[in-house]
Amino acid sequence: MPALDSTLQSIYDLVLRRNPGEDEFHQAVREVLDSLGPVMAKHPQYADARVIERICEPERQIIFRVPWTDDRGRIEIHRGFRVEFNSALGPYKGGLRFHPSVYLGIVKFLGFEQIFKNALTGLPIGGGKGGSDFDPKGRSDGEVMRFCQSFMTELYRHLGEYTDVPAGDIGVGGREIGYLFGQYKRITNRYESGVLTGKGLGWGGSPVRKEATGYGAVFFTDEMLRTRGQSLDGRTVVVSGSGNVAIYAVEKAQQLGATVVAVSDSGGYVVDEKGIDLELLKEVKEQRRERVSAYADALGERARHVAGGSIWDVPCEVALPCATQNELDEAAARALVANGCLAVAEGANMPTTPAAAKLFGEAGVLFGPGKAANAGGVATSALEMQQNASRDSWTHEYTEERLGEIMRGIHERCAAAAEEYGAPGNYVLGANASAFIQVADAMLAFGVI
Ligand code: NDP
Repeated sequence: MPALDSTLQSIYDLVLRRNPGEDEFHQAVREVLDSLGPVMAKHPQYADARVIERICEPERQIIFRVPWTDDRGRIEIHRGFRVEFNSALGPYKGGLRFHPSVYLGIVKFLGFEQIFKNALTGLPIGGGKGGSDFDPKGRSDGEVMRFCQSFMTELYRHLGEYTDVPAGDIGVGGREIGYLFGQYKRITNRYESGVLTGKGLGWGGSPVRKEATGYGAVFFTDEMLRTRGQSLDGRTVVVSGSGNVAIYAVEKAQQLGATVVAVSDSGGYVVDEKGIDLELLKEVKEQRRERVSAYADALGERARHVAGGSIWDVPCEVALPCATQNELDEAAARALVANGCLAVAEGANMPTTPAAAKLFGEAGVLFGPGKAANAGGVATSALEMQQNASRDSWTHEYTEERLGEIMRGIHERCAAAAEEYGAPGNYVLGANASAFIQVADAMLAFGVI
């Protein structure tokens, strides 16, 4: 990692001291601080007002008990979180993650990233994130419903369309959002559609929300390639993960003429040189909720499943990490570069380790950081809020057009800030600088709060 100047280093030291053991949060803060040297040099007012120190401290952190009863009648107890990180630009906005690895450090890393991602969309949304160490995998619908009801029985008092608006993330899809919204409605006796996003199309959801993060990541990749006179058409693509983000990244990449040759889950990856059969993938993952190995089982000779191993060993020109944090390390980055990879865009949050990102920079690989490349999901959530507020619903075509415009806007903002702060083509620096300035200016306007 490059050295920080003394002011930024002392801020980072304070973050380490105040948040012991929260490695992912430290990593996310460090990545932003690494970009802010030139911004602070040009705008001393931010240091005077201690804006960075304030941004690094969440406005509110809620931790609560989630007791529920499983199908055998046994009482289970999980831990729920909501970190309301920053509301300078709008109500707290960010998803809920249900995964056994969830603890405060994960929620804080995600909430911190979300502040900047949401600013980049240009829409009026602040940053927050939540979740639980509950694992929906292998649970019956009834168990998932009872867990969601118990979770919302505490969370509801902190939410509101002008206060805090959660959505999905890992382990929280349409089914979970349905149970959460149902319980919110029941407890409050209010059909407050704008309090949760990612809702079903028939009850307040937005067209394209389900597809938005994956589609957006592919639109962002296409914009990056265009700066070099290239496109996705005819390219070989590898997408990690096989959840919500991954599936729709595959769909849009295919629509733009690419061949996606591999996808994965936590058990391994499948390679299908002919190109992933999307209908089959959706059936396996969305309907049957099975492991990705079932995709290879269904295709016999055509596809192979590799248990464990690294999906990044599969040669490709474009890599889209869409599974989870720190899934693409330095060794993986070396393999991608050696195989001639041109572009990497993060569909997931912080999937690339700092050493891997550095290597991409040195090798001239286009690199789109998650807070820019995967912002299409939250942007479309904000479009869902707009439709809810005006009691309207838009067409699929119009919503996708808006998403495309927003992703182009994000790309432009990142590219312009990278140029302005002396690092043309560095989307990490551009995203951090542009988003930070927007949030910091609003915070300055509000005084010391
Ligand atoms: P899903 O739960 O739908 O899918 C997650 C996928 O990632 C699954 O294939 C899962 O495999 C895999 N995965 C999860 N944890 C691990 C792990 N430790 N090792 C390997 N694979 C893993 O989640 P989403 O698609 O919604 O989210 C994926 C990423 O995108 C996350 O980083 C999320 O924060 C980010 N994101 C999501 C947005 C959204 O709109 N949903 C918006 C912006 C970012 P398995 O089933 O085996 O666990």
